[in-house]
Amino acid sequence: MSQPLILEGKKVAESVYQKLLLEVSLLSFVPRIVFVRVGEDPASQAYVRSKEKRCLELGLRGETLVFPESLSEDELIAKILVLNREKDVNGILVQLPLPKHINKAKVLSSIDPMKDVDGLHPENAGLLLQGKPRFVPCTPAGIVEMLNFYHISIEGKRVVVLGRSEIVGRPMAQLLLNHNATVTVCHSKTQNLSEETQRAEILIAAIGKPKFVKGEMLSSGATVIDVGINRVDGKIVGDVDFESVKNKVSAISPVPGGVGPMTIAMLMKNLSLAAILQTKKS
Ligand code: NDP
Repeated sequence: MSQPLILEGKKVAESVYQKLLLEVSLLSFVPRIVFVRVGEDPASQAYVRSKEKRCLELGLRGETLVFPESLSEDELIAKILVLNREKDVNGILVQLPLPKHINKAKVLSSIDPMKDVDGLHPENAGLLLQGKPRFVPCTPAGIVEMLNFYHISIEGKRVVVLGRSEIVGRPMAQLLLNHNATVTVCHSKTQNLSEETQRAEILIAAIGKPKFVKGEMLSSGATVIDVGINRVDGKIVGDVDFESVKNKVSAISPVPGGVGPMTIAMLMKNLSLAAILQTKKS
């Protein structure tokens, strides 16, 4: 097979930002997001920094509250409740993972669902499940945006999702169902994984295992979306072995430069949506 189409997340993200700038210019205020980071996990620091930087580049207001690892769950929830009440805070994002002594589900449920730009509050997860999405988790939303940009249709396709996490796999499967795909979700207990992946017309890999997906696991002409971000010998690699699959697939998202930029773009889109919805409510 000839060289695959490279799904360039950076390029797609730029097109999202163009539309977003117009959308935001119609508001009478500048949307504001507060990132909440607990502890000093280096990856979390880097993620929050890049989100803040993007806000700055778009002229949006983004700031980070940093708390020590020792912060208690009650103290964290109390901080979030204050942000919920602040009228000029449009979006709240709690950077995951949280320290082990903090119950993630309780914290996420304490965010005002109208400010939940990460789409992880149970109310927003429920709306997605019902096919009436409000804030969709950013990575799955970005993947659909990317497929649409490249005119890769989802409807009626056999899509296999590797991974069933709350942030990627599960909402991804739900979103794909809403777009009329036939969805298979695989996880660590799946038997004969290759049999499942070989049926995929679109494969979405989100398992956090470097270069796990090999060419022999795919059928010719498949589209492959690599969500993985794995640090190996100081380099970032995906969940897909690019070299092994590149002559077999018709399209593939690279790592880096594929899904990553889309995740941030959809966060900005969710922030703009939050600001618009809050304007309508008040
Ligand atoms: P989690 O660790 O929360 O979930 C991993 C999932 O993969 C689980 O459902 C697990 O199954 C499944 N899994 C693990 N090993 C296997 C295996 N051998 N075969 C089949 N399934 C397996 O990860 P996340 O969903 O949070 O993230 C996945 C990857 O995506 C990571 O590399 C992460 O860094 C990256 N990521 C990238 C983003 C981006 O913007 N590009 C955003 C978010 C994540 P089980 O449920 O049975 O344990």
